[in-house]
Amino acid sequence: MLISNEKIKALVSDLDLVDKKQLESLYILAKEEKKSLAKLLVEKDVVEDAQLGQLIARAVGYDFIDLNKVEIDDEVLKIVPEVVARKQKIIAFGRDKDGIKLAMANPKNLEIISLLEKKTGQEIVPFYSTERIIRTALVKYQQEIQEEFSKVINENISQAKEGAKAEDIPVIKIVDSIINHGYENKASDIHIEPSDERTLVRFRIDGILHDIIKIPSEVHELLITRIKIMAKLRTDEHQAAQDGKISMKLESGEKIDVRVSIVPIVDGEKIVMRLLSEKSRQFSLETLGFSDVDLNKVKKVMKLPYGMILSTGPTGSGKTTTLYSIIKILNSREINVSTIEDPVEYDMDDVNQIQVNQKTELTFAKGLKSILRQDPDIIMVGEIRDEDTAGIAINAAMTGHLVLSTVHTNDAPTTLPRLLDMDIEPFLIASTVNIVIAQRLIRKICTQCVVSESLSRDELKKRLPLKDFDQHFSTDKKTIRIYHGKGCGVCSGTGYKGRVGIFEVMPVSETIKSLIMQRVDASVIRKQAREEGMKTMMEDGIEKIIAGMTTIEELLRATRE
Ligand SMILES: [Zn+2]
Repeated sequence: MLISNEKIKALVSDLDLVDKKQLESLYILAKEEKKSLAKLLVEKDVVEDAQLGQLIARAVGYDFIDLNKVEIDDEVLKIVPEVVARKQKIIAFGRDKDGIKLAMANPKNLEIISLLEKKTGQEIVPFYSTERIIRTALVKYQQEIQEEFSKVINENISQAKEGAKAEDIPVIKIVDSIINHGYENKASDIHIEPSDERTLVRFRIDGILHDIIKIPSEVHELLITRIKIMAKLRTDEHQAAQDGKISMKLESGEKIDVRVSIVPIVDGEKIVMRLLSEKSRQFSLETLGFSDVDLNKVKKVMKLPYGMILSTGPTGSGKTTTLYSIIKILNSREINVSTIEDPVEYDMDDVNQIQVNQKTELTFAKGLKSILRQDPDIIMVGEIRDEDTAGIAINAAMTGHLVLSTVHTNDAPTTLPRLLDMDIEPFLIASTVNIVIAQRLIRKICTQCVVSESLSRDELKKRLPLKDFDQHFSTDKKTIRIYHGKGCGVCSGTGYKGRVGIFEVMPVSETIKSLIMQRVDASVIRKQAREEGMKTMMEDGIEKIIAGMTTIEELLRATRE
C-alpha cells in the first residue's frame, strides 16, 4: 500500500466536513477487515475520490492528476500498452519537454518507471492518481477504434444478411476489417469461433485472448468461405482440418502474411489466423537491442558505398534479421537491392529476392553470379558457407557493391580467420570487410511480472562466474540490483516475454586490417578489437541484466556455445 490507514485517517481528519465519529468507525472497520481505509471512505461517500487523491498525492510528495479532466492524445496513451496499463495501474496522459507524464496508482513503483524510460528513451514524470480514476480512464484505450470497427462490421453484416455470397463486397469488407483491426491492435492471432447463436471474434494480444466482437451466425459460413478463398483452401470441405496462407495488403499499405488454420468443431468450423507481420515490424535496428555506441558504429559503416557487412552467430541467433533491418534502412527507389537466400525468410518490398534451389542447382554462388549481371547496388547473400560463394561475394564487394552476408562463427573476431580458411586472400578480406556483427538472442523478462532483488557482489559472483568479474562490476558497488519475472498469465508462467539481441560489433580498423594481412589468430584480433572499444556479447548481456531486460541464467544459456 502506498500510504497507511493511520496516515489516511490523519489526513482526512483535518478536513472540516468529515464526521470524526464516522471516520473513526471506518478506520476500525478497515483494520478489522484488513481493507484500505481510502477505499472505504470513498465507497461510503465520506470524501470524494479526487479529493482524497489530492491529499494522498500531497502526503507522498507527488502532483495529483485527475484523468477525467484531461484530454489524452491517442499517441501518448499508447506509449503504455493497454495490458501493462491495466496491470500496473498506470496511464500515460501527456508529453512535453520534461518527458512523459504518467499517472500512477503507486508513483513509487520505480521499476516500471525505469522500464518505461528504457523503452521510450524519455524521462518519465510520475503523477499520483487514484486506482478508481485510472480504472475509469482505461476505457480510453479501445474506445475510438473499437467504435469505428464495430460500425464498419455492423453495416456490412446487415448487408451481408440479405443473401450475400462470400465474394460480395460486404463479406470481403468484414474479413478485411477483422484482419486490419487485429493487426492494429498488435494481435498475434485472430480466432473466429462459431457457437449456437453467435460467432465470437477474439484477438490474442500479448498472450491473452480478448473477446472483440460477436457476429450473427448467419454470417459465419460466409466468413469461413471468404477466408478459405483467400487462403486457397477447399470451400466444399467442412469435415477436415485445413491449413493455408493469405498474403495481403493492409489499409496502412503494409503487406502481411496470415497463416490460416481451419478446424471443424461441434458448432461448425473454427478459424485461427496467425498474423506473421511481427517480424517486419521488428526490422528496425533500434529495436534489435544494439547499445547506442554499437548502433552508431553500424550506422557509420552502412553509409559506405561498397565493402562487406558480415553478421555472424549460430542458427537462430537473429543474424538475418539484423541484415534485413540494415537493408530496410538502405533500400530506396534509386537503389537496386538483390538477395540470394536459403530460404527467403521474409518478403521485402522493392527488393529482388532469389531463393536457393538445390533441385535446379541454383546455388548461392550461381544466384550471386546472376544477380551481378543485373547491376545491383546492394547485395545480400544469405550465407557464405563455401569457397565459391565467398570468392564471388568478396569480388562483388571489391567492385563497388555493398555486400551483406552471414557467416557461421561464434564471435566477431573469429570471422576473419574463417574467411582465410575459405582460401580468400588476406588482402581481399582486409580491403572489403567493413564490419563484423556477432550476436545471440536472449529472452526478455516479462514486463508484467518483473521483480527485482539486491545481490551482494559475492552472491552475484557465484551466479555469474566470470574470470574478469571485477572488470564488469566496479568494486565500489557493494550491492547490485538484478531482475527476473515471477511468471504470470501473460508469459505462461515462464517470466520471459519477447527476445532481444546481444551484440559484439567489430569495425575493421586499419590496425585490424594489417593484422589480417599477417594471418594472425582470432585471439590477436580480439585483443586489438577490445583495445579499440569492442564490447563482447557477454558484456553487452551484462549491461542488459543491469538494465533489467534479462536474467543471469538467460545470458549464460545464450552464450554457452
Ligand atoms: Zn509474466
